Amino acid sequence: MRDALLERFLRYVKIDTQSREEVEDKFPSTEKQKELSKLLVKELRELGLEDAEMDEYGYVMATLPSNLSEGERSKVPAIGFIAHVDTSPEVSGKDVKPIIHRNYRGGDIVLPGAPDQVIKFEENPALKDHIGDDIITSDGTTLLGADDKAGIAEIMTAIEYLLNHPEIKHGDIRIAFTPDEEVGNGTKYFDKEKFGVKYAYTVDGESIGEIENETFNASGAVFTIHGINVHPGYAKNKLVNAVKIASFIVQEIDKYPAPENTEKREGYLHPYVIEGGVEKCMIKVLIRDFETSGMKEKEKILNDIKKDAESKFPGSKVELEIKESYKNMKIKLEEDPRVVEYALEAVKMAGLEPKLQIIRGGTDGAKLCFMGVLTPNIFTGGHNFHSKQEWISLQAMEKAVETIVNLIKIWTEKSK
Ligand SMILES: [Zn+2]
Repeated sequence: MRDALLERFLRYVKIDTQSREEVEDKFPSTEKQKELSKLLVKELRELGLEDAEMDEYGYVMATLPSNLSEGERSKVPAIGFIAHVDTSPEVSGKDVKPIIHRNYRGGDIVLPGAPDQVIKFEENPALKDHIGDDIITSDGTTLLGADDKAGIAEIMTAIEYLLNHPEIKHGDIRIAFTPDEEVGNGTKYFDKEKFGVKYAYTVDGESIGEIENETFNASGAVFTIHGINVHPGYAKNKLVNAVKIASFIVQEIDKYPAPENTEKREGYLHPYVIEGGVEKCMIKVLIRDFETSGMKEKEKILNDIKKDAESKFPGSKVELEIKESYKNMKIKLEEDPRVVEYALEAVKMAGLEPKLQIIRGGTDGAKLCFMGVLTPNIFTGGHNFHSKQEWISLQAMEKAVETIVNLIKIWTEKSK
């Protein structure tokens, strides 16, 4: 299984599937993503998944049909596995030259194509868990693309494993490979009805053994500040400067936690755009918190700052608009705790220590949760995503395959 897994992974990372930001007139954002999608359809069909196809938007879906007896079939739910074909727009994914560092002995990993790119042992504490493993990196001139071609290779290998082991009984297994995840559009045209499952897993996480079941709650706030513009030579007691009001607002916001001084479960307020002049200014602020109560508090803080600004600058008018972007997927996942419980059990069955993780951002899985498909995220084994120092252990990838197979076994056993 290890060889087949490695061979697949190396085949997929060599195909450039980088997506692009801010492409609005076409989907997916880059045509080249479909090269991998088409290859995956072909490979799924060769494995015997006859319904494998790519739709007009580049989504690949396929079914491994249930091998349960007629009587049991209706009791075992269909389970989905999802990975994304695109790689990050931040770093080139063209001409990736994967390098296998066999039997890693510890220490720094120098990437031969760009000697300034060194994966430092000290800065990568996870490396010490993979001494003796085969570590895969790029040559340092590109990213590797383990995010998320590792997920794809792991799902494909798990499917092959199930086909070679018909004694493992399972319900319908649905596969989806999606485009444009890295630019936030992975679920834009995702046909949930066609996918037809209530429970799914994205295979797009990082460290071995991790299951991600929480995302931030996220909203965006926009302050629109109206000043009064008068010729500065004749402005006494008339001019109200929106630039100064904007500055006041940003300084007030800065009294609260920010991305640059928070981690783990801490939320923040993040002013990230400011533009305008004396007459009118605009400030955009991100609001992030894992708890609904934390979101409410932060909204109140912004409202209070708005009021303070108006009273400190008579004659000004400040508008504040707050819009929700996404919610913590945990709220949804708790509707059926089995979906996360079984994932933790599957990790344990693979001989690993399961670890629940939070995501300080959003995921496609979170969006799917709110579309009605409960979708936590399981590890791929990869590290340093979106960078030239991306690395993954082949043995960790094998554990991800095992976890997928275990999950399928558990769903069958517990539902029969
Ligand atoms: Zn990813």
